[in-house]
Amino acid sequence: MSVKTHRVATIPGDGIGPEVISAGITVLQNLADTLGTFKLEFAHFDWSSETYKKTGKYIPDGGLDELKEHDAILFGSVGAPDVPDHISLWGLRLAICQPLQQYANVRPTRILRGTSSPLRNCSPGDLDWVIIRENSEGEYAGQGGRSHIGQPWEVATETAIFSRYAVERIMRFAFETARSRPRKMLTVVSKSNAQRNGMVLWDEVAAEVGKEFADVKLDKMLVDAMTARMALKPGSIDTVVASNLHADILSDLAAALAGSIGIAPTSNLDPTRKNPSMFEPIHGSAFDITGKGVANPVATFWTAAEMLNWLGETAAAQKLMQSVETVCEGGLLTGDLGGKATTKEVTDAVVREIQKLGAGH
Ligand code: ATP
Repeated sequence: MSVKTHRVATIPGDGIGPEVISAGITVLQNLADTLGTFKLEFAHFDWSSETYKKTGKYIPDGGLDELKEHDAILFGSVGAPDVPDHISLWGLRLAICQPLQQYANVRPTRILRGTSSPLRNCSPGDLDWVIIRENSEGEYAGQGGRSHIGQPWEVATETAIFSRYAVERIMRFAFETARSRPRKMLTVVSKSNAQRNGMVLWDEVAAEVGKEFADVKLDKMLVDAMTARMALKPGSIDTVVASNLHADILSDLAAALAGSIGIAPTSNLDPTRKNPSMFEPIHGSAFDITGKGVANPVATFWTAAEMLNWLGETAAAQKLMQSVETVCEGGLLTGDLGGKATTKEVTDAVVREIQKLGAGH
């Protein structure tokens, strides 16, 4: 029987990105070799802040067309101390997400076996969320400008954009995600009391699309109240949809409440599947620990599992997460989770677990 080969483009980027992506590739390659049910072909792209400093561009001419030749993109992080954040973000991450129409940013959060939440009385199972972030417009649409630069009367505008088209497609995706989960509940986060145009359209479209999903419970929450609910009643939340800015903030809080930013994954999906989707750990470049070999690779492993799910390799994704959680449960944890293990020790241990699964243990 011929097995499917998935072509994966890797962009390790900056900071700890190369360390965790290399760990991710090791684990994915081992999984593919051990299970033998699929193959992976990796193509490496050295697009980073170093490239930008040398060439003036993060993505070379024709680079996006090359990316489109792949089935998925595995991304590390972007951001360097000597490049302004808005240059690096717009130069690489957003320069991929926006033209490739990866309009749904999906961030699952749960407490893995062997890890713990900083919340008292919150055990694995009490916190199991998927946050869906609108990834194409909203507050990060890039609309606005600056006049009278450097003058005392300088003005800057940052205009949030909410189009019926984009709100409708993200709501439909969010309701579908909520429907696929056991609790069938979607919390629509808003700020329509203060933002009376875009966010009111957001709420109205949510209610309209909700009519097509009678089996999904629609729950509404203002973003400020949502932060308190996440900390105080984590068990009352399941699937969440929020604007680009709101979900960006809420999902960092979610990652911290689940134990560490070092375990959280995110997927930038083009649900139409016309373009490859991009998968990345939620964390940034983490320059404070770069090059020390102590970055937690779990976020990248979970990211890799999300990628496999999207590619249809659901059994392999499950095996990968099982292996990761067994390692965490065994107490082999990096510093961010209170342990002393290195990136390599965790990676090697996950590979050993994968090999045990493959051998039918
Ligand atoms: P960015 O602006 O690129 O998001 P940042 O420095 O604001 O970067 P992170 O890079 O995510 O945010 O780092 C925040 C903190 O979390 C840092 O102290 C970092 O060391 C820690 N951290 C992030 N990722 C990991 C990881 N994989 N393993 C261990 N610690 C991590």
